[in-house]
Amino acid sequence: MQEFFCPDPAALHVRLRPDSLACTDLASDRRWNYRELDADIQRAVALLHHEGIGKGDRIAVLARNSVYQIILQQALMRLGAIFVPLNWRLSQQELALLLEDCTPAILYTDDEIPPLPPGCRSYSFSSFASEMSAFDPAPRCPLRSGCDTCIILYTSGTSGVPKGALITARFLLATAINFNVLGEVDTGCIFLCDTPMFHVIGIVAQIWPPLLRGGTFIVSPGFDAEKTNDRLGNPDFGVTHYFCVPQMAEALRQTPNFAPERWTKLKALFTGGAPNPAAHIRWWLDRGVRVVDGYGMTETGTTLGMPLSRDLLRSKAGAAGVPGPLTAVRLVDEDDRDVTDGTPGEILVFGPNVIGGYWNRPEERERSFTEDGWIRTGDVGRRDEDGYITIVDRRKDMFISGGENVYPVEVEAALSEHPGVREVAVVGIPDERWGEVGRAYVVAAPGQDLDSDQLAHHCQSLIARYKVPKEFRFVDELPRTGSGKVIKHILRKEALEECRSKPGSD
Ligand code: ATP
Ligand code: MG
Repeated sequence: MQEFFCPDPAALHVRLRPDSLACTDLASDRRWNYRELDADIQRAVALLHHEGIGKGDRIAVLARNSVYQIILQQALMRLGAIFVPLNWRLSQQELALLLEDCTPAILYTDDEIPPLPPGCRSYSFSSFASEMSAFDPAPRCPLRSGCDTCIILYTSGTSGVPKGALITARFLLATAINFNVLGEVDTGCIFLCDTPMFHVIGIVAQIWPPLLRGGTFIVSPGFDAEKTNDRLGNPDFGVTHYFCVPQMAEALRQTPNFAPERWTKLKALFTGGAPNPAAHIRWWLDRGVRVVDGYGMTETGTTLGMPLSRDLLRSKAGAAGVPGPLTAVRLVDEDDRDVTDGTPGEILVFGPNVIGGYWNRPEERERSFTEDGWIRTGDVGRRDEDGYITIVDRRKDMFISGGENVYPVEVEAALSEHPGVREVAVVGIPDERWGEVGRAYVVAAPGQDLDSDQLAHHCQSLIARYKVPKEFRFVDELPRTGSGKVIKHILRKEALEECRSKPGSD
């Protein structure tokens, strides 16, 4: 028996609110109401039929954000086929590996064509939009299972080679419900969408909540701090919700035209995907903007979220929130026993928002799920007495100094409180006396002259002595993934090589 059928919000809203504005595409300056959106999805179905695409086929896309990507994704879902958005920031070699992994029938691309696996056709993505409109809408497709894979979404590759997460329709629905309840999203919502669509925020979390609600999503081809600042303040757009990664939020506040007092319709700016330090959240609150952190992964969509209450945002700054209504979260020790409140434990997640597994990697499913179906996130969290969970760190990033666990995220949060620090990443490095000690890579704020003693002294007032980095490196930038996360293993590798090449190190 089917658990349930594939949700299809566009097909629902064509009945409920056919004339309401569904979406705007800023690159092509086009708008769709729900009637037009639904008809275009059926036109895309007709085009894909014509191309011979059917159940289980993969279609890869390498393109800037556009409403046409959403039309393609929805059409493939109706057909039972699979949408694979790829990160256009990857090298040709990295892309070739992903294409070899997912073996698409077609690659649509805006960009230079990477080496293709045998049997894959390649078309320009702009031809998809023009050819689709030449077709009449196809007849309705048969109902699909909500448990079929409809997107293969590669993880960000922060800790190694990206893995193809199998996203089901129920994952999309559950993520949207979790987000809509936590983020107080209603039918009048207007989302500005410029987080790249090869990331879970971009293709799921900024689109499905307004789509499920019958609200509006405005799609911009990509993030540009200056343009995003203008768009958030543009009364013609009336943006109510904006979702990005912390690094994009940082870029907004560093831009000359930053004027949050003009964001009069914005209910909240949501961040996720990487830690957003308490000092930054408070900075935004002081300027009248609710910055709402949430936690999720490619594998779990929206999982934890903060409420919109200003008081709670301030008193719990640094926390990622509470589980969404469809999701259960446990924090466990090494033997999978639940830890008590206040004790760090690995986060396990269960619910319809969890992926079915990984494409071509059954062994990864074995490794990352418990026998009873909870996914092991590899992240460490701590729950307070009110049930709010703070992400302490990735388990892999933790290091042990003098027998004590040090979670770099906590040290980074302390350093972020220093006004001269713009960005920071801490890694553990080998140390003869303590086993491991911290090394901080620091990007100074413009015009700031920082030194190690000053920063060490600052840390001592906020965190225990053994957590204070023993070394500080001042750098111009940090290595980041396409979705803006610091790639710690690059820093660790560099630090290890340096330590090994020190005279007398072996
Ligand atoms: P890969 O799995 O390929 O190494 P990745 O884990 O960075 O890459 P994503 O699925 O994009 O890929 O990111 C999920 C991870 O991001 C989480 O496991 C967690 O480590 C981190 N993360 C997400 N939200 C938050 C948050 N609010 N605070 C701290 N960390 C977060
Ligand atoms: Mg991951």
